[in-house]
Amino acid sequence: MRPLQAIIDLSALKHNFLIARQISPKQKLMAVVKANAYGHGLIECAKAFEEVGADALAVSCLEEALQLRENDIKKPIILLEGFFEKNEIPLLVENQLQTVLHHPQQLTYLLENPPLKPISVWLKFDSGMNRLGFNLEQFKVVYQKLLERPDISNKIRLMTHFACADELRNNFTLNQIQHFEQLTKALNNEKSLSNSAALLGWKQTHADWGRPGIMLYGSSPFLEQPASNFDLKPVMILKSKLISVKTCQRGETVGYGATWECPETMQIGIIAAGYGDGYPRHAKSGTPIYLNNQKIPLIGRVSMDMLAVDLRLCENPQIGDEVELWGKHISIDEVAQCAQTISYPLLCGITMRVPRLFQN
Ligand SMILES: *Cc1c(COP(=O)(O)O)cnc(C)c1O
Repeated sequence: MRPLQAIIDLSALKHNFLIARQISPKQKLMAVVKANAYGHGLIECAKAFEEVGADALAVSCLEEALQLRENDIKKPIILLEGFFEKNEIPLLVENQLQTVLHHPQQLTYLLENPPLKPISVWLKFDSGMNRLGFNLEQFKVVYQKLLERPDISNKIRLMTHFACADELRNNFTLNQIQHFEQLTKALNNEKSLSNSAALLGWKQTHADWGRPGIMLYGSSPFLEQPASNFDLKPVMILKSKLISVKTCQRGETVGYGATWECPETMQIGIIAAGYGDGYPRHAKSGTPIYLNNQKIPLIGRVSMDMLAVDLRLCENPQIGDEVELWGKHISIDEVAQCAQTISYPLLCGITMRVPRLFQN
């Protein structure tokens, strides 16, 4: 068998959820499991969150929510983008799904096709991100309309989303908080503001509901602070093996583009992992990889199925030796920085051909 695997440590996932609880004890928490639980496996992660007492689960769309219901997940589920077409409305009722409402068009669909039983909605205010959400004027109108239609909605909750919460010195977040507060302070509906960065770094955003995502998977939302600062544990351990060891002469080059040149006669190793698995092609030479209790550098360009490492620091490397690409010894945030990206796309980008192995 190809040795590349993603070990998914469900006890670490639960531990991280409890950290979120500890840090924001007054909020209810919806664990965000969109995009296949950030690449970790939707159903297994949802079940783990259920076991550890998550108050709800959040997904991006109906398709993801239906997968959860088909697998017997009973928790409340929130659709973070709401519904896209009017024919999804009956399915919201049937499957007891809560929907975000962010656009007048969605309200029109609801007014023209009222659900057979009232549904719960999350009214989304755009406090400055300019992605999804109603502006000030629209928000007031929609809120009023919904109040007049208890046949459509039995519970209205209010939410907003931050653009810069991962930058702890950026006043943009304070502005967004202020806009949201001004609009909602007179309303006693339940409120939700905090993604992971806000939950960890902006305590004044803690309200009725938190919406943590990335922190539950053991990655830090902040560039300057490692996940270990918050006692978050890595959930995905991406493992493979050495499949070739060879000696190259000084001046020989390694890989596509012949970009890396051996400074001396030396051993290089080839590992079964590449961008076809979701390992970032842009990980630069020097990106750390863990082999035999040692961090060693990646060298040359990452190929589709393989990558090369410098074995000079390794004593007696053998074919079949295990490597960790990220996980307990190499944090995903470290790899992301070496590839000039963030952990989110790396985690979501682990492809279907990489088997997930769930551990409790
Ligand atoms: C994805 C998402 C979250 C979770 O964000 P993290 O940065 O992963 O914690 C929260 N709220 C909304 C609306 C989202 O789309």
